[in-house]
Amino acid sequence: MLIPYLLVLTLVIAAIRYWLKRQHRARLLSSEMSPEDWATVLRLVPIVAKLPSSLQTRLQGKALLFLDQIDIYGRNGLVVTRDMELSLAAQACLLIVNSTQWYDSLRTVLLYPGAFQSMQSQQDGYLVTQTKQVRLGESWHRGPVVLSWAHTLRGGEDPYDGHNLVLHEFAHQLDALSGSTDGVPVLMKGQGYADWEAAIVEGFSAHVENVKRGRSTVLDPYAATKYVEFFAVCIEVFFEQPQGLKDEYPDVYHQMSLLLGLDPLDWD
Ligand SMILES: [Zn+2]
Repeated sequence: MLIPYLLVLTLVIAAIRYWLKRQHRARLLSSEMSPEDWATVLRLVPIVAKLPSSLQTRLQGKALLFLDQIDIYGRNGLVVTRDMELSLAAQACLLIVNSTQWYDSLRTVLLYPGAFQSMQSQQDGYLVTQTKQVRLGESWHRGPVVLSWAHTLRGGEDPYDGHNLVLHEFAHQLDALSGSTDGVPVLMKGQGYADWEAAIVEGFSAHVENVKRGRSTVLDPYAATKYVEFFAVCIEVFFEQPQGLKDEYPDVYHQMSLLLGLDPLDWD
């Protein structure tokens, strides 16, 4: 009789823990930041001031949940401050402010003062070679995310240059929520995969052709390397140069807008 009793007790404890976690999460999502913290977000990530007020409120709750769930560690002597936490959380949550997606498995972000060296493995048959590369950011499947603080700060402060390191690396996290990082994220309810694929394949091909011919476009040439990077670069430009993306790649803009439940062109 003891084993069924222990089993029931274990299940009850697990159910209570799950319920408490859900309550804690719901409480954070409906919370607002202190006026001081919100003023810091507006100073360091000015694009959030363009969001409709309901989304500004939602962003605060999501950023608070992000900071509750994710530990941010400084590397190479960097001491993580509240400003750093808020800048990072606001930029990362901007991407999912109006989406049902969440960075479920992410627990750690590593911040370096600037560009950092990373060991990269390359396999050729049985031969694995490791090389050191200089990076500004990395996004690992199911975490962690690794970022240069100097570029995180700069990306947040300049919302119009078309480049944003945090949006780029967290686009990879969003992509990975589907189970594989392949440029096909979990789409919004009602958004068709066939339409997504048609828009992205056509946009990518057009961009590859533009790069080949040396034509300058709203997208960085890096977006022509593979679908994964095309997706991440399009996310950066969707927020920072939406009119340019819509003019040059209208179907891609439309799909990004459906995916995130946002239309930055409406914010002005
Ligand atoms: Zn990338």
